[in-house]
Amino acid sequence: MKQNMHILVTGGAGYIGSHTVVELINSGKIPVIVDDFRNSDPRIIKGVEEIVQQKVIFKKVDVCDLNAMRKVFEEYSFDGIIHFAAYKAVGESVQEPLMYYNNNLNSLLVCLMLAKEFEVKNFLFSSSCTVYGEPESSPVVTEESPVLEANSPYGATKQMCERILADTTKSGTNIKVLNLRYFNPIGAHHSGFIGELPIGRPNNLLPYLTQTGAGILEELTVFGSDYNTDDGTCVRDYIHVSDLADAHVKGVDWLMKQEGVFNEVVNIGTGHGASVLEIIHTFEKVANLKLNWKFGERRAGDVEKIYADASKAKSLLNWTANRTMEDAIRDAWNWEQKWRNETTDNH
Ligand code: UDP
Repeated sequence: MKQNMHILVTGGAGYIGSHTVVELINSGKIPVIVDDFRNSDPRIIKGVEEIVQQKVIFKKVDVCDLNAMRKVFEEYSFDGIIHFAAYKAVGESVQEPLMYYNNNLNSLLVCLMLAKEFEVKNFLFSSSCTVYGEPESSPVVTEESPVLEANSPYGATKQMCERILADTTKSGTNIKVLNLRYFNPIGAHHSGFIGELPIGRPNNLLPYLTQTGAGILEELTVFGSDYNTDDGTCVRDYIHVSDLADAHVKGVDWLMKQEGVFNEVVNIGTGHGASVLEIIHTFEKVANLKLNWKFGERRAGDVEKIYADASKAKSLLNWTANRTMEDAIRDAWNWEQKWRNETTDNH
């Protein structure tokens, strides 16, 4: 395989993006990060540089800005694109649908138009298991499970982006597409230099939980106690973000080796489900503290139980998750404490 491959990573300062940049560098590739920090923090770039002990290439550009992005494509000859840059909060997308459709669709369109213009043949798209909605018969979803009507504008943007990519591959371009449908990424880099950095009050379980453990938030509410699951709380497939990052490296390597034009879809999860209470109990064990939590009402739009059939990721990309849920929670907790200490030190 070609040495010194340049990979455009849009949203590379974000949570999954930054962990992927680390693993791309570890595998000998040269990521070029494009991010405008609207939902991320420049200190994450510093954290990446600490981990890899080198400078990373970084452009502060809005991915929706076609002309600014064209300049980036003119400067580097990309071998592949990983497109992360998008809004991702389900609740906010219900409040601000136009903002979500505008940003998530336009950023993809800009990347794709430039991929076509500059003949970049390998395109990896950051998709989500949200496209499956509430699974009808079994909680285990394969890539063949039906894509159901999205229950939020956020989910709809992921479906629409997948459709745009599929149509593009059918139109006679030379672009090979891999859609990775992620389950629930959690955790942080083992070093504690990078991790999830929600702006404002977190929506997702893990940052809410670690911030409660750290005393920043008062109490975690478990949304619903009467679901049809073993302990009454919802079940998800929680995957360590560094395993997810590895999946992107494997995905890029796989794309590079393929001939022809296609639009592939692969689930990226552990294949195991865990309930909200299991997460809380694991956290209490790992952090050796009692978490302040209570049961509350169900959250609108929550799926009861879903986890991945991850066998295609293994057979096609030779990828499986290596880290445990406990590893992920320990790393998330380590990150939470390290980040708080450093931000307090800095002020
Ligand atoms: N959850 C919870 N309290 C919170 C945040 C999340 O009980 O403060 C639950 C939520 O109902 C779901 C699970 O944690 O069952 C994962 O939610 P998250 O928002 O992290 O991811 P989602 O699966 O919704 O994308």
